[in-house]
Amino acid sequence: MTRAAAPVGTGPAIDSEAKLEFVEFLLTSINAQESSRRAVDWLIAHTAATEAAVLVADGQSNQVLLVAEHGISAGAIIDFSLGRDATAHPLIEALSSPAPVYIEDLPIHQHGPLASRAFHAIPLRSDAKEPGQGLLLVAGAGPTLDPGAAWMGRTLGKQISRLLGRQLLAETRFGQERMLLYSIINAVTDPILLTDTEGKLIIANSHAEKLFAAPEEASEGWRRAAGLNNMLFSAALSTSAVGMTELARRELLLVDPLEGSDLLFELLSSRAKDERQGTYVVSILRNVTDLARAKEEIEESYRTLRVAQAEVRDERHRLDLIIDSVADPILVTDQEGDIVLMNTPAERLFNTPGIDDETALRRVRANGANLTSFVSNVLTRSGEQRYRGEIQLGDPVTGRPLPVEALAGTILSEQGELMWVVTILHDLTEAIEKARLYEQLKQASVELERKVTEATAELAEQNELLRRQHIALEQASALKSQFLANMSHEFRTPLNAILGYTHMLLNNVTGQVSDPQRKSLSRIDSNARHLLALINDILDITRIEAGRMPLNATTFGVGELFEEVQAELEPIIKRSNLAVTTKVRGSVPKLRTDRQKVKQIVLNLLSNALKFTPAGSVTMTASYDTRLKQVGIAVRDTGVGISPDDQAKVFEDFRQLDASPARGYGGTGLGLSICRRLSHILGGTIDLESTAGTGSTFTLRLPAKAKRR
Ligand code: ADP
Repeated sequence: MTRAAAPVGTGPAIDSEAKLEFVEFLLTSINAQESSRRAVDWLIAHTAATEAAVLVADGQSNQVLLVAEHGISAGAIIDFSLGRDATAHPLIEALSSPAPVYIEDLPIHQHGPLASRAFHAIPLRSDAKEPGQGLLLVAGAGPTLDPGAAWMGRTLGKQISRLLGRQLLAETRFGQERMLLYSIINAVTDPILLTDTEGKLIIANSHAEKLFAAPEEASEGWRRAAGLNNMLFSAALSTSAVGMTELARRELLLVDPLEGSDLLFELLSSRAKDERQGTYVVSILRNVTDLARAKEEIEESYRTLRVAQAEVRDERHRLDLIIDSVADPILVTDQEGDIVLMNTPAERLFNTPGIDDETALRRVRANGANLTSFVSNVLTRSGEQRYRGEIQLGDPVTGRPLPVEALAGTILSEQGELMWVVTILHDLTEAIEKARLYEQLKQASVELERKVTEATAELAEQNELLRRQHIALEQASALKSQFLANMSHEFRTPLNAILGYTHMLLNNVTGQVSDPQRKSLSRIDSNARHLLALINDILDITRIEAGRMPLNATTFGVGELFEEVQAELEPIIKRSNLAVTTKVRGSVPKLRTDRQKVKQIVLNLLSNALKFTPAGSVTMTASYDTRLKQVGIAVRDTGVGISPDDQAKVFEDFRQLDASPARGYGGTGLGLSICRRLSHILGGTIDLESTAGTGSTFTLRLPAKAKRR
């Protein structure tokens, strides 16, 4: 045990600002315990001290009390007790020592509250003559007394003796208890708060202070977070206080004032009754942030697991569905060649259960043996991923041979060893049948091709024959036309003579003719005229057919043509008693074409109309189609009309709809066929619209300018 007056070190000078600040505080403090606590904090902050404590001698109880400390365990605080009368105790000795004492190697029971083996004990008093009122214990800086500690001893000594005079030490004792309580609740790692029933704070441990109190130097964010936490806490307390029985438990979300992150606490609060203080509430906050996070993570991974499980189930289901929906047999065999899985079509071929017919069983076994030999082939070639081959199987029920194409794939384990062989069988019966049919079809096609070649040759021969016949016919036709043209000409000369002489006789040139003679002569005249008309028509047709009908284009108006035609047929019109009118609709340009031929056509159409109209009217209309650049000449009558069946026939040569000898109309039956031929020569057409009994309209359509042929 060594007790020595400690030498005061020189050390680095303490910031005089810090000293000034402390002294200013002492001036405002009227509480010895508060001053002592501040002194301890100052020493820890400004000197090398690691532990410090302030002891005060209580005159009433004759006890030395611990009023402030730093770095002292709750256990040591509880254990500490020292009577003033223990005069042999080094601390009591130090109390009356005139100067600071350095104490080392004390036996543990005399050690006092400090855990260090060596410390300085500085007596506290107002001046050197007075007995010590208390002790300032400082450890951690070695045997040389820190000048800061020495200064503190002096300064605090004055303050203590100033205040102790006024302050009841009982209060100090109460302070010690309070300090004990502080150090106990500070030792608990959960934030603990003692509040009144309104939520006003009475005591909070340091962990709670971190959440609910912001020191002066705290940032704005810290301050706001602390304010928010206070609000949240009192709100939680007030709601739970409403129906609070013994112990209320609820979750409380607060903000970490330093990091700004969310902290989840479980708030345990209970009411306590104290005779002096009344009812107050003790709240313990248990940080469950990590717990909640862990719970969330577990829930999340459980969810993921469930999803994965569902996916696997779906996948398996899909696979089953695919395998079962494939019409081809599918089998999975293991390394030994044993079947481990197969679909329904495969079961029909390879599954024995349910078959009692011996023959069928034999066939199934034969199928199995054939498959096994195929699979063992696959297994020996384990280097290949795919293997294709043909297997001869048989239908177990009917015994029908079943040639199949087998396609095998291997499934390897992660280590690369062969695990399973998947084999798909494809029925080749149809393919073989198709190949046979294809062969037949090919032969038939070759045969057909040969026949077509033959027929083509024959056809070519016949074509040639026809071509020659056509040439011969054309020549014959030309000869016929030539002959007819010559003949007509030859006929016309004597016929004109006949007509001339008949005319003379009828005009009494050769003497007076009697009435019966006149009758006969008139018959001769009309028949000769008919014959002449017939000959003229035939001559026209033959000329057209022989291509000897030249075009003689001039320019003329349709109106004037109408007048001319009307004038020519004037006697017939008069006789017919029909109203004949002409119309030119819109502006019709002048025609540039063969006037003679157009007139012949219109004359023919008008005379037919007059002939086949017993009563009513005949109208000739001219119009112009600007789009087609065509002039239309329509001859409309209200006569007998032509039935639909006969409408095409009227344009045929020698066609008269009433061919009976008793028919009421004259004519040769060549008029319309000549008209149509002429219209074609002019580059136009003739159409007919008619209803039997109500009348007909023949329309000639011509290009306004005939093209040169
Ligand atoms: P035909 O010289 O006998 O009149 P067409 O070739 O001119 O010879 O006419 C042939 C037949 O067409 C006529 O016999 C007649 O039956 C019929 N036909 C011609 N035009 C008319 C018409 N406007 N109305 C009724 N029938 C007609």
